[in-house]
Amino acid sequence: MSDAGLPANDLAELRALVEADRERTAERLAFLTRDLTGILDSAALVATDDEHDPEGSSTAFERAHVQALLDQAREHLRQLELALDRMAAGTYGRCESCGRPIPVERLRIRPATTTCVTCAARSR
Ligand SMILES: [Zn+2]
Repeated sequence: MSDAGLPANDLAELRALVEADRERTAERLAFLTRDLTGILDSAALVATDDEHDPEGSSTAFERAHVQALLDQAREHLRQLELALDRMAAGTYGRCESCGRPIPVERLRIRPATTTCVTCAARSR
């Protein structure tokens, strides 16, 4: 019984958390993509005068900022997908570094995490 992993009710609760987060993240991704497209469109309008336009650099900054958020959201979505994969495979909730079970309290806060607190602190 030692290797049974998480109790079914905890697993169901965490799966619901991950799925809700995945939905939110997918929405954010769509929103950011629209945002980035909007910035690129407005940048294209002033592109011919970019060097002299004081707005030019702030557009580039805004674009980089949105792009960074987009990358972050994409990465987070990937982590959530991987968490769902691990749930399906029955390996969810185990620290990938030391192999010990990750406390459910930690999983509730960070359902996509792959390491226990000790290993997370060590790798920092
Ligand atoms: Zn660990």
